[in-house]
Amino acid sequence: MIVEVLKKVYRVSKALWVKSPATHDIRSHLMHDTPRFRGEHTIDYETCIGCDACNKICPTHAITMKHLPFKKQNIVPEVNLSVCIFCGLCEDVCPTKPEKSIILSGGRYDMISGGWHQDQQDFWVHVDIPQSYIDERLEAEEATRVKKEMMAKKKEAQLHNEKEDKA
Ligand code: SF4
Ligand code: SF4
Repeated sequence: MIVEVLKKVYRVSKALWVKSPATHDIRSHLMHDTPRFRGEHTIDYETCIGCDACNKICPTHAITMKHLPFKKQNIVPEVNLSVCIFCGLCEDVCPTKPEKSIILSGGRYDMISGGWHQDQQDFWVHVDIPQSYIDERLEAEEATRVKKEMMAKKKEAQLHNEKEDKA
């Protein structure tokens, strides 16, 4: 009996004198480093094929497709984190292999710590494509177009010659 009372006194004294936080600062937790954590999106514009599947499946219309000047893969997703519910469907549906072009990976604790959300633009995951990359793609497309044109002309000339030989 006395032992039980002493245990209770010890527990109450400990609760009174040993301060422990009611909540923990989650920014110090490492859960955002785990592969299954669903945080801010990482978008790989180089592997994205612009299929629009992520945009179509998004239940909250958090995705907007950004138009690019080159024809192949002429759209790429951008995400509004203020309406995203981090369901991960966009990542699940992305068909690119071996890596998905849209991945919910990074932790973004500043979203809940307050302060920065004054500017709506801060909620967006924008895809920043360097002008040099755009120029490179446009040049490659132009080279392919010229090559195709030359091949078509060559084929046309060949057919013309064949017809003349037969005549
Ligand atoms: S995680 Fe879900 S809600 Fe957020 S952008 Fe992807 S599909 Fe939309
Ligand atoms: S689903 Fe994947 S490949 Fe298709 S547009 Fe979205 S990020 Fe690009």
